[in-house]
Amino acid sequence: MKTVYGPYRSWRLGYALGVDPICRQPKVCNLKCVYCRLGCGGIMVTERGRFVDEDRVKEEAKEILDKEKVDVLEFRGTGEPFLAKNLHEIVRALRGLTDVPFGIVTNGTMLGRDDVRKELKDFDVIVVKLDAVDEDGFRRTNRPHHSITFERTLAAIRDTIAESKGDVIIQVMFYKGNVALADRISELVRDIGPSKVFLSTPQCPEIPGLSKKELTDLVELFSGMDVRTIYTECAKER
Ligand code: SF4
Repeated sequence: MKTVYGPYRSWRLGYALGVDPICRQPKVCNLKCVYCRLGCGGIMVTERGRFVDEDRVKEEAKEILDKEKVDVLEFRGTGEPFLAKNLHEIVRALRGLTDVPFGIVTNGTMLGRDDVRKELKDFDVIVVKLDAVDEDGFRRTNRPHHSITFERTLAAIRDTIAESKGDVIIQVMFYKGNVALADRISELVRDIGPSKVFLSTPQCPEIPGLSKKELTDLVELFSGMDVRTIYTECAKER
């Protein structure tokens, strides 16, 4: 497996080079979302660990960046990227190679930790997942480790938006299991007040996703906000 992949056209952030600070199969995460593109298996952990060496990430990124121009480095991998204890060191190693913005796609559950809070400054764009409006929905859709609660995760997302100088975007994954809550989810997102909203839906046969029309119809609920859907641009991702 490579710690750096692409470039690819990311529907979220543009022409991106992916950085995977976990780089494990099966995945390493603190949630087991029902729609996870990495499958239902995996190792559930809540403590941070060192999964890849920063010199290796730098070497792999350099090889591609010497040949390709990209819009952004997108940290998103085989699990929750903030579980990587050396994330800051990886960012530092890569900052020397390029001036493009750095974005991270996170499930938001670790944003309340002091060490993670400091590392948020490493990123120009933070994309945070939010698929539920209460503990029940969170447990049903995201199936967190028992120590993680919706209430604390939501509070940390609010704090991140209040404190961050960069772009903080909320990404909602809509599927048949939570689409009935779309009204309430949109109200909550409006109340949180992110800079943008991304609407996604599973792209795998195991979990029924929404059609382009079904997802596009939901955009109206987020009127007045800067919204993009996974169907806005043709995406080709790992
Ligand atoms: S947070 Fe991401 S990697 Fe983790 S289980 Fe959910 S979808 Fe999969």
